[in-house]
Amino acid sequence: QFVRPDIAALEAYTPIQPFDVLSEQLGIPIEQIIKLDANENPYGPAPSVTEALRNCPFYAIYPDPDQTRLRRAISPFIGQPIERILCGNGSDEIIDLLMRVLVQPNDVVIACPPTFGMYSFNTGVVGGRFVAVPRDTNFDVDIEALADAVLEHQAKMVFLPSPNNPTGNLLAREHVLRLLKLPTMLVLDEAYAEFSSGSVADLVGQHPNLVVLRTFSKWAGLAGLRLGYGLIPEWLITHLWKIKQPYNTNVAAEVAVLQSLAETEALNARAKIMVAERERLFAALQTIDGLTPFPSQANFILCRVERGDAAQLKADLAKRGILLRYYRNPELANCIRVSIGLPEHHDALLAALADLG
Ligand code: PMP
Repeated sequence: QFVRPDIAALEAYTPIQPFDVLSEQLGIPIEQIIKLDANENPYGPAPSVTEALRNCPFYAIYPDPDQTRLRRAISPFIGQPIERILCGNGSDEIIDLLMRVLVQPNDVVIACPPTFGMYSFNTGVVGGRFVAVPRDTNFDVDIEALADAVLEHQAKMVFLPSPNNPTGNLLAREHVLRLLKLPTMLVLDEAYAEFSSGSVADLVGQHPNLVVLRTFSKWAGLAGLRLGYGLIPEWLITHLWKIKQPYNTNVAAEVAVLQSLAETEALNARAKIMVAERERLFAALQTIDGLTPFPSQANFILCRVERGDAAQLKADLAKRGILLRYYRNPELANCIRVSIGLPEHHDALLAALADLG
């Protein structure tokens, strides 16, 4: 009887199963698993990052609560002043901080499914009301329906990833500009921007109601170290600083991010290779009877399974050590999502698909 009723009614967020557990269940050694289920970077961190992590003498010391070195290094990379940058334990943490500052119980938060699950989850955590404005059949945001919903519910926030996870499509800049005229905070989640041709990071600071989220999880291969950041207008970032845990970002993540930013060219070159691989995989998937891949600007491709059961396909591939993401939600009925891996991972996937018929 001591638990808040809104928390008692919550369901825990369940991301995919850890892959060491899966490896044990499948009886396939970890090194043989082809992990294409969580949009991670198949190249891992840049080699000099591993070296920098090995040589860091500061692991016994608490991290800098002001994130000064981190923000100074990120600022020229992203083209925003340090005053508008806040780092989190993954961009997931920035989503949580924004909710806690802006959303009171029963306030409405909107997102456009199919989309990233953390927006509805975090809305529930703060006792907000989540309203879904579904995407159209091409997975584009219905801008007018979204604008109507914002006004009708006096929505506090709208979360839009660009490129969207799991559909891979961008939100056009002109649509962002249209949405910025609405009386709501617009959060553009650009976790996959480094694999795409568009970003609105430059607009932060020109509009009081725009936040952009970025991360080192995908482009820099640091998902396990947890370092994301928000580009946040000054009036709002002040409040996030007040409630942030002092040591939310850790020393290892700081070392890895500083070294990754010194390797920007190499990381961009790798991202370019992943984009080329994405296009090769897309073209190959298109030729497979019974599969419809959707064009993507991210490091993954969503596919509709036109014949047969997507859950069965996922299970059959898992038995061969190839892990994909499968979706149960109605908007994604019978879809799988393939993260971009190494060329040989895609060759193995395509061979397995041909074999399974
Ligand atoms: N936003 C989107 C759209 C994502 O897909 C993800 C990762 N799945 C995140 C944010 C979270 O990224 P991070 O690792 O920085 O918490």
